[in-house]
Amino acid sequence: MEKWPIGVFTSVDAGLGVKLEVARDLGVPTIQLHAPHKSTRTAENAERFLARLREFGLTLTCVFGGFEGESYADIPTVTRTVGLVPAETRGERTREMQEIADFARLLGCSAVALHLGFVPHDTSSQLYQEVLQVTRVLCDHCRGNGQTLHLETGQETADGLLQFIQDVGRDNLFVNFDPANMILYGTGEPIEALRKIGRYVKSVHCKDGKWAKHPGQEWGQEVPLGEGDVNMERYLATLNEIGYSGPLTIEREIAQEPERQKAEIGHAVRLLTTLKAKLA
Ligand code: MG
Repeated sequence: MEKWPIGVFTSVDAGLGVKLEVARDLGVPTIQLHAPHKSTRTAENAERFLARLREFGLTLTCVFGGFEGESYADIPTVTRTVGLVPAETRGERTREMQEIADFARLLGCSAVALHLGFVPHDTSSQLYQEVLQVTRVLCDHCRGNGQTLHLETGQETADGLLQFIQDVGRDNLFVNFDPANMILYGTGEPIEALRKIGRYVKSVHCKDGKWAKHPGQEWGQEVPLGEGDVNMERYLATLNEIGYSGPLTIEREIAQEPERQKAEIGHAVRLLTTLKAKLA
């Protein structure tokens, strides 16, 4: 594959991505996919999906897991509802994430990713140990499928994430780096974070955002690529620096406005194409 193939984040029936047709219309070569609902993750649908990928000339590079009941309404709600951290849903969601990895395998995809949730900062706490353990279970399941597991960034600082990955101690655990999330969650300057965790970065999102007035307490604002505080040229230059040559997957989480979403992603494709010509 060429260096830095452009991609978009897509959805079939769950998640905030664009439809496959949008990826086709924009002429990008790769996609990431938000896992479809449980009821539609069948072998038959996997075949159908693969046929559409071939028809549209798209390569699937990563499947993202997500769960019923997750809400990104505000930061405390994320803490309470997202990923494998909340204890009440952990067992069920861990099984579901394993099923998602198996579905990704049917799609021939060797990378799966998720928002793990807010990993507790106190590494001596019981909860931290539990989250380590469940991540090991997932890593081992993915290994059986020949897959890597990528943690979406945002909810942890770069140092916290480094510590966590080292504590999990599995060699198929990596990072899906989302620079905007660092800003939106207020967990650190994204370029500096990217340099710190660069060796674990195996997939990325191209998304932009503006810092909140009180970072970490309230959301920053997600904005069209190039209009936020990430600085896309510096971002790509830093991806060069860390030796990342994988897909540049555009994410714009305004699924409630599909026309605007498509137009803004189209603009993002043009911006990244220009920057690639300059830097790749
Ligand atoms: Mg993201």
